[in-house]
Amino acid sequence: MPRKLAAGNWKMNGLRANLTELIKLEEKHADADVDILICPPATLIDRCQDTPFDIGGQDCHAAIGGAHTGDLSADMLADAGASYVLTGHSERRTDHGETDEMIAAKTQAAYDAGLIAVICIGETLAEREGGTTLDVIDTQLAGSIPDEADNENTVIAYEPVWAIGTGKVPTLDQIAEVHGHIRARLQQRFSDANEMRIIYGGSVKPSNAAEIFSVANVDGALVGGASLKAADFSPIITALENA
Ligand code: PEP
Repeated sequence: MPRKLAAGNWKMNGLRANLTELIKLEEKHADADVDILICPPATLIDRCQDTPFDIGGQDCHAAIGGAHTGDLSADMLADAGASYVLTGHSERRTDHGETDEMIAAKTQAAYDAGLIAVICIGETLAEREGGTTLDVIDTQLAGSIPDEADNENTVIAYEPVWAIGTGKVPTLDQIAEVHGHIRARLQQRFSDANEMRIIYGGSVKPSNAAEIFSVANVDGALVGGASLKAADFSPIITALENA
């Protein structure tokens, strides 16, 4: 069984004052028997070094350095204290036109910098309603995971775009179907696929976490809104520990 992962994506939220939420989390979960990852805005990565949690960036550039105003390289994130980075989050795909090819290049840059990449994939509502979810997943898996991926440097996050920040959640059967499909596809390509973590993201909250974590091949969660407050993220972590 892969070690479970509770990951919080703060997105473009969080000032120094909000770091008190991590202190509250630490009081309850400093010795959790699941991995806890916080992806704050990059401005706070360095300031998170005193927490017992893993810290991640939310994106990185594919290049090591150069004339890319406003961007951050994977090396810079690692230098600031990150050990993970999200790649291919749907908000990056939508807001910045990121393609699978770009995401594969960013993920490779993450590996080269020694970071663990959380590669995000998932279908839109139109794709779900059009019956093409598994085809979309196949395309994203094939296009965005470098050949060097293994269970130590890669986590796959299944995040249906229509469930992110909307309060809508797929049925447990739908989650089971997609996670099982991802596991099978990983098995075709990677010898350690059974150890690769596949986490679910999209409106995970304290009230639905336990049932989502009961689904086969769900090895944790990527949590947006409910990761901002310790009062919400803590019961999600506890549900994962108890799963
Ligand atoms: C996310 O940002 O990856 C996410 C899943 O957000 P939320 O939990 O708010 O739906």
